[in-house]
Amino acid sequence: MTVRADLHVHSCLSPCGDLENSPAAIARTAASIGLDIVGLCDHNTALNCPAFFDACRREGIVGVYGLEVSTREEIHVLCLFEAPDDAVAFGADLYPLLAEFPHDPVRFGDQVIVDVDEVILGELEKSLFGAIDLPLSDIVAQTLERGGLAIPAHIDRTAHSIGSQIGFLPDEPFTAVEVTRDACEIQTGRFTRITNSDAHFLADVGARHFTFEARSASFAALARALRDDRVSMEFAPSS
Ligand SMILES: [Zn+2]
Ligand SMILES: [Zn+2]
Repeated sequence: MTVRADLHVHSCLSPCGDLENSPAAIARTAASIGLDIVGLCDHNTALNCPAFFDACRREGIVGVYGLEVSTREEIHVLCLFEAPDDAVAFGADLYPLLAEFPHDPVRFGDQVIVDVDEVILGELEKSLFGAIDLPLSDIVAQTLERGGLAIPAHIDRTAHSIGSQIGFLPDEPFTAVEVTRDACEIQTGRFTRITNSDAHFLADVGARHFTFEARSASFAALARALRDDRVSMEFAPSS
């Protein structure tokens, strides 16, 4: 089968994420547009991943669970796991290293933790816009050690990216790299390139995604396709 994947979607727990972007709504939207694998990665937290796990089961799609970590260099990197508990555990280890800026919900929107039925379970006190006080190399190493996928996000953007903060891809064992358009000025060399929506609104889920051939949609099949560089990027809006 052709597996369609979008590994970079934000929920209502991201300060810039729309409140309508509940884990349940993301999974429902993803299933309705034919995505098979969807990754939830809020900024510096994985606390909506348990709800997303339940939502993906309900919709019959494969969830991937993680965070979009902001490193000490202010580089965004997707850290994705097969099990929601692994994402939550990594997030719990990183939260004490997140900069101590109190969150301002009036200026930046709510940061709400919800369950699969959209019941609000709590809010996070620190602003998730801050950076985690660990370098990129440590974040990548720890993600891989824990069995995850480490993917620098939107490397061709002009902020919070490898392109903006370093200007070239350092020699790290990245699983793949994420680009937002086909023509990327950063030399990606041996790395597998993927593209994802980075959706903060339901309407954008899957707008960019990638595909690969596999017997079935699974985390293991995804990891193999990334390792073997067998993916095709889709930049057109999904229909
Ligand atoms: Zn980002
Ligand atoms: Zn993002």
